[in-house]
Amino acid sequence: MIVAIDGPAGAGKSTVARALAERLGFRYLDTGAMYRALTWLAMKRSLDLGDAEGLATLAREQTVLFSDDERVWIGGIDVTSSIRSDRVDRMVPVVARHSPVREVMRDRQRELGREGNVVIEGRDIGTVVAPDAKLKVYLVADREVRARRRMAERPGIGADALATDLRKRDAKDAERMQPAEDAVEIDTTDLEVEDVVDRIEALVRERSPAA
Ligand code: C5P
Repeated sequence: MIVAIDGPAGAGKSTVARALAERLGFRYLDTGAMYRALTWLAMKRSLDLGDAEGLATLAREQTVLFSDDERVWIGGIDVTSSIRSDRVDRMVPVVARHSPVREVMRDRQRELGREGNVVIEGRDIGTVVAPDAKLKVYLVADREVRARRRMAERPGIGADALATDLRKRDAKDAERMQPAEDAVEIDTTDLEVEDVVDRIEALVRERSPAA
């Protein structure tokens, strides 16, 4: 069974998806980490981030790997921490907007999601990567709350810079951020993580009593 968790930055996807996967004993797939790793490598190699085909070739040749301890690897390098930098935050939508790059990622994500039970987190999971997912959740939250959550993750960055970054990223990601028609929308603004996980778990059990 696939549970798709989509939504904008700071809506709570990673925390919720991770906790949900653990609770249900499902695997967890963070598709944002894949785009981040590719962006990190492209920047390290000083590639032109406007070169869609060049980036797609890089994505094909340098598969993003997740180790069992949930570390993220590309090109033989552990990039788990480096992909959470402000620079990667800013540049990842530039890389992610190229269709040839998205096609490579989509195929790989489908491959990784094919077997067993999995919670997949991203932007286009319910619409493109796994349109047949048994349950699609779309998380939203007020922008102010999203900025505050980001700030807790990145204490080094100033509040103004962070709000601007978030707004820009939202604008760039917007075309891929439409919820699937059959997604259940949950507004996490005033909810605790546990409450959100409880709600999704109840939906999973409703749709798949054996899960
Ligand atoms: O979720 P996270 O903030 O790690 O995602 C980083 C970026 O990767 C997003 O801002 C978006 O540009 C891109 N992304 C995407 N499609 C996905 C997941 C992430 O375009 N399925």
